Amino acid sequence: MAARHLAHAGKDVCVLEASNRVGGRVMTLYDTSAGTPIELGAEFVHGDAPETTRLLDEARLITVPALGKQYRSDRGELSPQGPLWERLSKVFEHLDPDKKKDRSFQDFLDDKPGGARLKRERQLACGFVQGFYGADTTMISEKSLAQAGDPTEGAAESRRLVNGYTPLIDYLKRDVAQRIRLGVNVKRVVRTEDDVRVFDTATWKLVCTLATTRVAAAGFGLFGGLLMGNIFPAAFEVVPASARASAVGALNFCGALVSGFAALFGGLWKKSLGIDRLLTFTAVAYIVAGIALIIGIKVLFPRDQERIY
Ligand SMILES: Cc1cc2nc3c(=O)[nH]c(=O)nc-3n(C[C@H](O)[C@H](O)[C@H](O)COP(=O)(O)OP(=O)(O)OC[C@H]3O[C@@H](n4cnc5c(N)ncnc54)[C@H](O)[C@@H]3O)c2cc1C
Repeated sequence: MAARHLAHAGKDVCVLEASNRVGGRVMTLYDTSAGTPIELGAEFVHGDAPETTRLLDEARLITVPALGKQYRSDRGELSPQGPLWERLSKVFEHLDPDKKKDRSFQDFLDDKPGGARLKRERQLACGFVQGFYGADTTMISEKSLAQAGDPTEGAAESRRLVNGYTPLIDYLKRDVAQRIRLGVNVKRVVRTEDDVRVFDTATWKLVCTLATTRVAAAGFGLFGGLLMGNIFPAAFEVVPASARASAVGALNFCGALVSGFAALFGGLWKKSLGIDRLLTFTAVAYIVAGIALIIGIKVLFPRDQERIY
């Protein structure tokens, strides 16, 4: 969602995703004998959820109230779920968002908030944090959970997306699909005043950096300038004085065509390739053109070559 906002604001974005799919804890199974989409992760829109509701309206996705009773399955045995949310709430209300020294959720549980009376609720809360947040309770912090708000808030009043949650992910993905890089497990993000560098886990290789854009832009400017700066003097070497005005006209005409198409393709490829790669490709194209020019002069124009030296 953040990437989409930034892209809409005209920023160049890059989404790095560790797994081979986007959606994270949202995953819908469609090909099931149940005849209805089955959610492996997020399923309900809890309470009013204004931000989610706005997005669902924008994407024209329909929700229906989640009615019926809830059951839990323990080793294949179904039993009524009972008032789960109320029970979890009794533990979560002990989380302290303003605690001076942060600690793990496990340390919070080990402190036995609510005493012996809430023993079973604490076990439920532990399972909930492991499942809902996909978190290791010894690593996730109490403060982060407390500041995220009560996850059970509004949970009693839930809606379900008729076609599953995945269409919402597809909708969010639409505008940034070309800018998503899958299989990049970010290990480290280094920020300086004017640069951000992102490192990958496996190889610790630099996967994207603002500096790359700057180096690419410098390369583009330098090689572009070198090549273009030579065009007019080079033409004047071979064009007789009487035809120079026409030569300038022809060169300007070609230049306008190239600049027009460059802006067009730059705009088209900006999103899919990214500015840094676009500038790098152009800089490389200029280097190749420069080398071709030097070789061409050496091979095809030996007399000019002699004159240079
Ligand atoms: C079983 C279950 C049921 C749920 N039910 C509901 C529900 O009914 N209603 C509800 O509102 N919410 C529910 N949730 C919670 C909801 O799924 C999450 O709140 C929501 O998906 C959070 O979205 P997110 O993008 O912040 O994080 P996530 O969905 O967790 O996505 C994080 C993404 O970041 C990627 N990532 C992580 N680390 C790295 C790294 N180092 N480098 C690159 N990529 C990385 C992950 O692969 C993942 O794709 C449920 C969750 C679970 C697990």
